[in-house]
Amino acid sequence: MKTTFNKFVLVSLLLLIVIIGFWLSYLHYAGLNLYVHLNPVFRKGSLVFFNLFNDWKIVERDKIIFYFQNPSVVENQSEFIERREKAFKNIQAFFKIDLPHKIDFFVWDNREEPLAKFKIQLGFASPLDFSVYSFYKQTPGHEITHIFSHHLAKDVRKCRFINEGLAVCFDQTNMDKLSVAKEYMKKHPLGRIQIRKIWQDGLGSLPDDFTYPLSGAFVKCLIDNLSEDEFKEFLKDQSYENAKRLFGDKLEKIIGDFENRLSNILD
Ligand SMILES: [Zn+2]
Repeated sequence: MKTTFNKFVLVSLLLLIVIIGFWLSYLHYAGLNLYVHLNPVFRKGSLVFFNLFNDWKIVERDKIIFYFQNPSVVENQSEFIERREKAFKNIQAFFKIDLPHKIDFFVWDNREEPLAKFKIQLGFASPLDFSVYSFYKQTPGHEITHIFSHHLAKDVRKCRFINEGLAVCFDQTNMDKLSVAKEYMKKHPLGRIQIRKIWQDGLGSLPDDFTYPLSGAFVKCLIDNLSEDEFKEFLKDQSYENAKRLFGDKLEKIIGDFENRLSNILD
């Protein structure tokens, strides 16, 4: 009788441990999700409640609050911060809008930990709550651009080709995106690229290594060929159909010239 009772207690305890384990891991995951989605006013509260970033180093600057893992692989944090503050100013100078909150900018040493802990794939921006979740090797401006472009209008209709292209275009690196796309095409013959198709497919099935620089180069081409007002009006609805409605034949010429520049490299 006593042995049966002991077994019952043991099994119950094990069951309890498993349930508590699941609950804690859910809480950990849900904690970040809550943090991502809660209204900014309550975010700090949920942060503290879930102790998610308690041991992180926090550096509050003019436009951005930085969160570094502690210790962090970022050796020169001052330079890291300066580059992103400068990126913020450059991007803001283009969009000419103010953000109502500072950006919370999280910097991870690796992509594996947040994936395992929170099931999040770095890096990405969460424009609704003005947060950037980044891997330390990311460009200074990409995710910050996502936040600005989201707040250009009340309801921006995004299209992946343009939305990512915009972030690549404003990543604040000196990389020549068109050359990168061309280099890719030299190594991986893709035939003549059809911008309209990739645009309408939302980047389509081609690899990011090609479509990201391609989209960045194309957005730069739009900026160079449209007036500032035209470009910003278009950004509110980034679909091909809207661009066609706004710019008509001019759009077809821009696309045709761009496709020719791409294929010229192959000759
Ligand atoms: Zn992006």
